[in-house]
Amino acid sequence: MKQRVGWLLVALLMLGACASQPAPVIVYGPPVDYGPPGDIRNPPQGPFQPNAYLRLCPGMGVSNAPAHDSERWITGYKPVILVGQVVVVTAPVNDVCLSSGFGLRGSRMHEGIDLASRPPGTIHAAAPGRVIEARNSSGYGLQVLIDHGHGVYTRYAHLDSFDPGLTLGGAIGFGQPVGQMGATGNAEAPHLHFELLTGDYSNSRGSKGLTPNDPFAFPAYDYLGY
Ligand SMILES: [Zn+2]
Repeated sequence: MKQRVGWLLVALLMLGACASQPAPVIVYGPPVDYGPPGDIRNPPQGPFQPNAYLRLCPGMGVSNAPAHDSERWITGYKPVILVGQVVVVTAPVNDVCLSSGFGLRGSRMHEGIDLASRPPGTIHAAAPGRVIEARNSSGYGLQVLIDHGHGVYTRYAHLDSFDPGLTLGGAIGFGQPVGQMGATGNAEAPHLHFELLTGDYSNSRGSKGLTPNDPFAFPAYDYLGY
């Protein structure tokens, strides 16, 4: 009995710790079915580890630039964010600079962020999930859409090529390669157009019916705050 009371106390303490966490911003839909460990639906993590800092691209005006210092480093940059119940990497390719932020650009909405590097880098899955689109479309060029469950999706556009291991309909682990940065579709120079989308893909308009979000607007994933 004493032991049970002890466990109850631990459980209550953990609940208390959880209660101090900010409430999830977005909670939609069921989780992705990853299957048990070792299952093909439960893919291993890839090699990617995100850079801790991000800088605006040099020598250019960056539209919708987040707050940054005199050397163009983004201040208070959060490399890993919490989107509802899903932990997502803010920039899924390393050694890049931000060439455009999220929001209105002139009269048109920029529904993602643009990340550029020379030479073009390898793009990775920003969170585990399932590949629900991998195709060529007019504006996006070669693009991949991943369903991370809980109503959270990410899109990777203007790719030069898909990773050979990428499978439409297949599971993809965090940090596994998606493809190579390129300039396919409506892009003037190689960069990744990265979108963070929320909603329900099974609406009548597919990904066009999802809501684009500014990745810089989400809270940092507090990995010590469990
Ligand atoms: Zn873009």
